[in-house]
Amino acid sequence: MILENISYVEQKIRMACQRAGRKREEITLIAVSKTKPVSLIQEALSVGITDFGENKVQEILEKKKVLDANIKWHMIGHLQRNKVKSIIDSVSLIHSVDSIRLAQKIDEEAKKQHKIQDILVEVNIALEESKDGFQKKDIFSFIQDASELDNIRIRGLMTVAPIVENPEENRCYFRELKKLMVDMKSKNIDNVTMDVLSMGMTGDYEVAIEEGATMVRVGTGIFGQRDYGQK
Ligand SMILES: *Cc1c(COP(=O)(O)O)cnc(C)c1O
Repeated sequence: MILENISYVEQKIRMACQRAGRKREEITLIAVSKTKPVSLIQEALSVGITDFGENKVQEILEKKKVLDANIKWHMIGHLQRNKVKSIIDSVSLIHSVDSIRLAQKIDEEAKKQHKIQDILVEVNIALEESKDGFQKKDIFSFIQDASELDNIRIRGLMTVAPIVENPEENRCYFRELKKLMVDMKSKNIDNVTMDVLSMGMTGDYEVAIEEGATMVRVGTGIFGQRDYGQK
């Protein structure tokens, strides 16, 4: 089941790359394993998935303990400052940086652990009230401030696009985020590489790839529906 899902998603990614004239290697598929058991992650690992996304600190720590140490864990959910300390050691990329205070905390803890932590800046590109993330107009000033923190490296931007029936409705937002990234990259700020664009989920990853995503975060499309009822 999972294996079939992965090969389906993989095929869709390749086709989107073809349409956009991009190479498959430009895109990292992150399997979003939140709420899903270790056994399913192992299945995904067995067919070459190396990157997994979670939205809870505790869940990353528990799964990491029992799984292959080479897995790259991605923190994609809202991160509280008091939880930063416990995951600096465990995550390869924090996608969800949404305030300067959080960035400062990550920098501080990374420094203690002699690490440079890669982060993405979360952008609320569609200005949805329910969503975390910076508004587009505040990005430049945040990046300028955060670039002074020596133990974080700003790799790029991330967004959670609106839930829509037709993925085409999100194309404009993906395009806007890509433009924002190119614009920020052109400013050549220290500690800011702007080479990662994390956008696209089960419903819209193909459109996101066509518009320049370098990381797509696919949960349901790989692991099936999530059941929050029993948790
Ligand atoms: C849950 C989640 C995903 C995956 O969503 P699906 O629609 O199941 O693919 C992607 N990104 C974030 C930030 C999430 O919280």
